[in-house]
Amino acid sequence: MLRLAVAAFALTLSTVADATVHYAIDLTSPEHHSGKVRIVFPAGSGDTLDVKMPAWRTGRYEILDLANGVSEFAAKGQGGRALQWQKVDKSTWRIQGAGSGPITVEYDVYANELGLRSRHIDDSHAYLDASAVFMYADSFRQEDVTVDLKVPSGWRSFSGLEADGANRFKGANWDILVDSPIETGVSRSFAFKEGGRDYQVVFWGDGNYDAGQTVADLKKIVAQAPSIWSGYPFQRYVFMIHATDGAGGATEHRNSTVIQLPRNAFQPRTKYLKFLSTAAHEFIHTWNVKAYRAGAMVPYRYQDENYTDLLWLHEGSTDYFADQFLLQAGIMKPDEYFGALADAVDHYRRTPGASAQSVAETSFNEWISPSGDRARNAWANIYAEGSMVSWMLDLKLLQDSGGKLSYRNVHETLYQRYPSEQGKGFSATDVKAILAELTGHSWDAWWAQNVESPAPVDFDRLLSAVGLRISYEDSDKSVPKQPWAGWKADQAEGGMKLTGVERGGPAWNAGFVPDDIITAFDGRRVTKDRFEDALTERRAGDVVTVSFFRRDQLMQKKLTLSSIEKNKPKVVKVANPTAAQKALYQRWLLTPYPAN
Ligand SMILES: [Zn+2]
Repeated sequence: MLRLAVAAFALTLSTVADATVHYAIDLTSPEHHSGKVRIVFPAGSGDTLDVKMPAWRTGRYEILDLANGVSEFAAKGQGGRALQWQKVDKSTWRIQGAGSGPITVEYDVYANELGLRSRHIDDSHAYLDASAVFMYADSFRQEDVTVDLKVPSGWRSFSGLEADGANRFKGANWDILVDSPIETGVSRSFAFKEGGRDYQVVFWGDGNYDAGQTVADLKKIVAQAPSIWSGYPFQRYVFMIHATDGAGGATEHRNSTVIQLPRNAFQPRTKYLKFLSTAAHEFIHTWNVKAYRAGAMVPYRYQDENYTDLLWLHEGSTDYFADQFLLQAGIMKPDEYFGALADAVDHYRRTPGASAQSVAETSFNEWISPSGDRARNAWANIYAEGSMVSWMLDLKLLQDSGGKLSYRNVHETLYQRYPSEQGKGFSATDVKAILAELTGHSWDAWWAQNVESPAPVDFDRLLSAVGLRISYEDSDKSVPKQPWAGWKADQAEGGMKLTGVERGGPAWNAGFVPDDIITAFDGRRVTKDRFEDALTERRAGDVVTVSFFRRDQLMQKKLTLSSIEKNKPKVVKVANPTAAQKALYQRWLLTPYPAN
């Protein structure tokens, strides 16, 4: 319905001359995190024009109420005549009496939300995601746009948008503007070509990164795209890297990404690989969630939640492919890839929520997902569990087809069949139809069991198919289990404050909850140093009398220790892999089974 409405608007307005929407922002007083925005909407809006700020931005499925950054709103008609306006809901300004001429809207935007990757203006740069900066009007959403930036001297501007001068960009419509953030400021930039495409890498901020090495590795990563897709949804792509303090995370856009990391978190190698894995993840999103995505988000509706049961496929599957890109590119060694798999196995086993909720359910509920202990105990995660389900789906396709088909084929088909920029989106039924078409049999039962119910992940089976296994041993020597309480704690005044209690574990069963402050075991004071050791000296089955404060009241409870493997799991090669295992491994990861 919405798609038809948008098309109708486009038709009625195509006859209007100069229907361009002109955006401008003055960033010449950036110290106080604000900029002055001016938008000129073309003539033809009629007597009433509703202009809006989005309630959320893409890539972060959470209501952010971005209108909260707007102040000193004003609207003017022809000749600068002030127009009446009123707020009609939290994100909408209704302007009256415009008549036949264009309407100019002006406001201040406060931009101090670096970690949300929505808007940030300071004395060194501005990062502008249009969904948090530039208002839109439904009636002009299909019209082309220009953006002019007035910046302090020495600043340079970058964006996935087409440049139209040093600090000026243009785009075919607001949807392209809103999915093409702008980075402007003092930065270092690099360019390279790969696969007939142009790439830019922009660094804002100093840090312990090696820019040359990073650019060389990004070039290897983007070269992996043809392992899944037959084409590119872009001619030019921009990596924007923020080396800063506090903020960490990344967001995908239609032909760009922003990746944030604490400035000294680019080393050592384990951290660098995580950074590159994030870069691969965001790059893969250029297809999976930008070029093709769930129909509920085509087009994106910016005023309310866009519910879909497929976010696991967009986030989890993207995560699943990201490390594979690093391995295929020769950046990650097989042992490092196995290490990442083992971490995922360990995380799954230590996350009760993973078996409490299906990936379809958690996708739908992502908009209200909790964090911390509640999430770990009761919610599946679209990334972690979504990646597990992707792995299971991939292995089943590989095994059933004797290595002829893999999950990559599903993504190539989605890319071919559902171009979002042509208004097409897909549903779970469509994905199942593709699976049935590729394999010749129904996937309804598999989907019901693994996507619509918490997936029973059988790691031994998944790994053994490709000649791998899980090992809890150290140096091939058997290591005994250790006593386990199933809690996490941080030092606090007077003792150790619980920060996490694993559902179904010994501490949970004894009735402990986060924020309890543990003071003593069996009458002896607990210190930070002694907290873990005091328990590991005991044995599974031992009962410990735990003294603790809750609501400032001293209490005691009996804790019966259980046991857990002493080591974290490792993923290792089986002793004598068969030719079939090696062949399937090769088809799975597109790299040879490791020789030693
Ligand atoms: Zn993602």
